[in-house]
Amino acid sequence: MINVTKPFLPPQEEYDHYLRGIWSRKWLTNNGPLVNELELTLKNYFDVPHLFYVTNGTTALQLAIKALDLQGEIITTPFSFVATTSSIVWEGCTPVFVDIDPATYNIDPALIEAAITPQTTAILATHVFGNPCAVREIGAVAIKHGLRVIYDAAHAFGTQYQGRSVLHQGDISTLSFHSTKLFHTIEGGALITHDANLANKIAHMRNFGFHGPETFQGVGINGKNSEFHAAMGLCNLKYVQQILARRQELTEVYHQMLRPLQVGKPFLRPNAGFNYAYYPVLFNNEAVLLKMIDALHGVYVYPRRYFYPSLEKLSYVRPGQHMCASSNIASRVLCLPLYHELSVEEVKMICRAILRADRY
Ligand SMILES: *Cc1c(COP(=O)(O)O)cnc(C)c1O
Repeated sequence: MINVTKPFLPPQEEYDHYLRGIWSRKWLTNNGPLVNELELTLKNYFDVPHLFYVTNGTTALQLAIKALDLQGEIITTPFSFVATTSSIVWEGCTPVFVDIDPATYNIDPALIEAAITPQTTAILATHVFGNPCAVREIGAVAIKHGLRVIYDAAHAFGTQYQGRSVLHQGDISTLSFHSTKLFHTIEGGALITHDANLANKIAHMRNFGFHGPETFQGVGINGKNSEFHAAMGLCNLKYVQQILARRQELTEVYHQMLRPLQVGKPFLRPNAGFNYAYYPVLFNNEAVLLKMIDALHGVYVYPRRYFYPSLEKLSYVRPGQHMCASSNIASRVLCLPLYHELSVEEVKMICRAILRADRY
């Protein structure tokens, strides 16, 4: 059986090494040495000034909204994982969808201005499938209207934009280190910001608001992550270059093999370094997509409809927001298996099954 993804696991001895350290220190969580080391290493890796390791990518989004004190309406993309929208609602704000650019699958910057009202406070956009948003255009609209910008960068570990990590963009970027992501810490996430005041706020907020053992700086939650999770991250970081290279290699096999097929792909920003986080293909219509899923299930291959349905269809958002491009793309896009352990032979087998089904 081949699933859309399979978590990367380091050699067990390497994790055991960290476990022995945890056992000897008996320091399991609360900003322990491994959490510190992971934060420092990631900060250097991305070359960013402030990075906070938290429990997961959803908590990172919620903390970002909270730290920026957002209220009212937040403009967001309908083509993303559900957590992008649910975090907005969870924080008591209203998601206002702006349709995607059908070429990149990211929020269309040309449509943002028309959606701004006096209640709008921010833009929350996803670098979907690791392809950077139109960050320059989004930044310009935000400055013009005094809006904050959060990037859901859950897919963008390793994505470069103009020669450096795309995580430098926006007021805050958030990452997810869930097991299904390119780099993972089992569960985990992070917030990245350039703003020292925001950083100070986030540091307190993720730890109940504690400011010294008996004083509090505002309201907080428990967003801390553990030494065990940080240890997995430290192990996996050593393999990130290999993971990226492997994904690129498998992506090229897909490209090569699927060349005879009539499928679309997201247009990748030319000045960006792509991270090969996913392998999305866009079929001509939903009927073809369903036929392909059936054919792949027949050979025990389980692709996923990332992301379906389009998020304006959620029951808890303001009804009547019709996102034509997003619902259209969501109905036709399929992510094919892509993970470190997947072999070139398996990719070829998947492609043959698709090409066979395409002939009927
Ligand atoms: C995975 C993901 C999240 C949520 O991350 P968790 O760590 O699972 O909470 C948020 N946004 C996007 C786009 C994701 O893919």
